[in-house]
Amino acid sequence: MDEKFLLMIPGPIDFDPAVLRAMSAKTLSHMSVEFAEIFGRALKNLRKVFLSEKGQPFVVAGSGTLAMDMAIVNLVEPGEKVLVLSSGFFGDRMADIAKRYQADVTVIKAPIGEAPSLEEAEKHLKKGGFKAITATHVDTSTGVAVDVKALGELAQRYGVLSIVDGVCATAGMEFRQDEWGIDVYLTASQKAIAVPPGLALMVVSERAMEAYRKRRSPVLNYYADFGLWLPVMEAYEEGKVAYFATPAVNLIYALDVSLQQILAEGMEKRFARHRLLAQAFQEGIDAIGLKQVPVRKELRAWTLTTAYYPEGIGPELLKAIKAEGVIVAAGLHPEIKDKYFRVGHMGTLTAGDVLTTLGAIERALASLGYRFEKGASVKRAQEILCPT
Ligand SMILES: *Cc1c(COP(=O)(O)O)cnc(C)c1O
Repeated sequence: MDEKFLLMIPGPIDFDPAVLRAMSAKTLSHMSVEFAEIFGRALKNLRKVFLSEKGQPFVVAGSGTLAMDMAIVNLVEPGEKVLVLSSGFFGDRMADIAKRYQADVTVIKAPIGEAPSLEEAEKHLKKGGFKAITATHVDTSTGVAVDVKALGELAQRYGVLSIVDGVCATAGMEFRQDEWGIDVYLTASQKAIAVPPGLALMVVSERAMEAYRKRRSPVLNYYADFGLWLPVMEAYEEGKVAYFATPAVNLIYALDVSLQQILAEGMEKRFARHRLLAQAFQEGIDAIGLKQVPVRKELRAWTLTTAYYPEGIGPELLKAIKAEGVIVAAGLHPEIKDKYFRVGHMGTLTAGDVLTTLGAIERALASLGYRFEKGASVKRAQEILCPT
């Protein structure tokens, strides 16, 4: 296998070699104090990455979908009302999950490329009776970012729990769990947290844990029950061990290394780097005439770019970009699937990676006969990356 390629998809991403090496260390007993020290540190650091002081972290083996499932099944009981804000494929998935657990679901679906309207959400909340509101920080099918700060404020004002899917955003997009009052922020290891696939991660507010304790009915998913995991998470954080189901030991080594790297960079710097690199990449894409899916610049995510193929070109572009050494992703939103492509830019991404990707996209477009000013995307990106 040719290993010289750049993986620019919205997860899994290009992982740091130190994170990958951590996974190959000898597997410890999950009941050993040595492992408890590693897992405990990772749990404490997860809270720091989410900018939460008192939230309860949960790290369980599974993917991002499990994290979504876990948030809903623990906090919404059958018959309770949930307001789902959908900005694409994953918002719709959240609605499916809530329906599967027999919640009374209202969906506010944004047109493709738009964010769901918070005014419309407020009209529903005013009627009362909602247990929770959910949103997708960055919907990976559209590249639209939602104003999570405003959402938190709205949820607090109406006394409903807020559940935010941060799978394509956490540790890339600006997020402050305590300050913004978000009750559950959930993610998966393989996106901006920069750890191979296999971990579902979340931090749950004190208010949401209180709501969990007040449930009247048992949680309808055994493996995902907060109550079964809580003693385990608490024990590991205290450097002790406890068992409910076997943790993904080697993935937790990798998580520990990646979270330390993230905190060594610092959250403010990490947010700023993602924002700057996204702007450079996205304005580069603008400069060669490709239209992006988010309808306004403020809606563009810092972790992902979604761009329509130019006239006369389709998914064959992906192969041509791959031939240039960069892997990007196909469309995901069912309504526009074959009309656009997606480029993930998160994790340990550098300015060099942005320029490499723009260069590869330009050469691929040229090979397919698209006419544009050669170098325009790279030039625009460089203007943003070195303004003086
Ligand atoms: C990737 C993703 C998911 C699903 O995660 P899996 O790990 O594939 O289960 C959910 N929500 C968003 C926003 C995502 O980007």
